[in-house]
Amino acid sequence: MSAAPSGSNPSEIRDSDAPAEIAPDPKPLGAMDTAEKPAQSARKPRPSAPAAKPPVSSAAISKPASRPGWSGLGPGSAKKPAARPEQRLTSRVVVAMQGVTKSYPNGRVALRGVDLVIPEGDFVFLVGPSGAGKSTVIKLLIRDELATKGAVLLDGRDLGKLKRRDVPKIRRKIGIVFQDFKLLPNKSVRDNVAFALEVIGTPRREITPAVDRALRVVGLTGQADQLPSQLSGGEQQRTAIARALVHNPRLFIADEPTGNLDPLISWEIIQLLLRINEMGVTVLMATHNAEVVTAVRKRVVALEDGRIVRDQVAAAYEREA
Ligand code: ADP
Repeated sequence: MSAAPSGSNPSEIRDSDAPAEIAPDPKPLGAMDTAEKPAQSARKPRPSAPAAKPPVSSAAISKPASRPGWSGLGPGSAKKPAARPEQRLTSRVVVAMQGVTKSYPNGRVALRGVDLVIPEGDFVFLVGPSGAGKSTVIKLLIRDELATKGAVLLDGRDLGKLKRRDVPKIRRKIGIVFQDFKLLPNKSVRDNVAFALEVIGTPRREITPAVDRALRVVGLTGQADQLPSQLSGGEQQRTAIARALVHNPRLFIADEPTGNLDPLISWEIIQLLLRINEMGVTVLMATHNAEVVTAVRKRVVALEDGRIVRDQVAAAYEREA
C-alpha cells in the first residue's frame, strides 16, 4: 500500500474525498504506480514472502486497537482514540491462512495446503480459472465454510475456533460486494446503505452521518433517494460498495465486482477500489479481468486446482500454464 500506511493518522472523510469525476481512462491508474513502492520484476516472487510462513497464532496477530485511514467513515468512529505505536506494530495482518485444505462433503477438494498472508493496507487480486478455489477462499474468510485442515485467521481471530455467537461480530469486520450487486430493490440508495448499519443495531444518530460519508466517497450523494432500478450498473455497484464500507470493515472483499459491467464502467469501479485502498482499507478482489489486473500492477495471488501457483507484487495477469 502506498498512501495510507498502517498507523498513519486516520483522516476524516471530507467532501473532497468524493470522486468528483471518475475518469474511465486507464492512464490515471498507471500514474498511480509511480506512488507505489518500487516495483519488482514481475517474475520475481515476493521478497518478504509472507505466504511462506505466516504467523498464524492468535497471539502473534493481536487485535488492532484502532482502524487505519478509513476510520473516519464508520459510525461513531471519530471518538476512537488513536492507537499507541506498540499497538500499531501488532495490527499489521488482516488475513492469515496456513496449510488450509478444504474438502466439500461430496469429496471435491477445493483448496490444498494454501498459505496466504494479507497485511493491513494490501490490495490483492485473487485470480485463477473457474474451479480454482477463489470462491472457497472467500467463503472461508466470511466463515460461510470451515477449513477441513489448517487455520484461517481474520484480524487475529481463528475462524475455526469461533463460538457461534461470535460469528456475526467477526463478519462485521468484512465488507463484501458481488458481481450482481445484491441490492434491495424496494429501498433507496440511502436506505440500502443504512440497512447495513440497522441490522447490526447502530443507533440512528450515527447511521445518518455514516451513510452520508459513504455516499460521498462513492460519489452518489445526488442519487441517494433513487431506487436501484433507476441507476446504471456502475451506480448500483457503487451503492453496493458504499454499503460494504459504511460499517468500517477491516477487509473489503470484491468478488468479480466488474463481471456485469462494461469496460469503461469497470475502470471507474477499479479506480474507486484503489482510492478506498489508499484510504487505508485492505482489499481482496477476485477477478477474471486480465486487463485490469495487468494495468493496475498490484499483488496478484493466482490459484490453480486449489493451490497458490503464483504470489507476486506489481504483477501482470498471466494464465498459468
Ligand atoms: P472458483 O471460485 O475459482 O471458480 P470454487 O471455489 O467455486 O472455484 O470451486 C473450487 C472447487 O470446489 C470446484 O471443483 C468446485 O466444483 C468445488 N466446489 C465449490 N463449492 C462446492 C460445494 N458447495 N460443494 C461441492 N463442491 C464445491
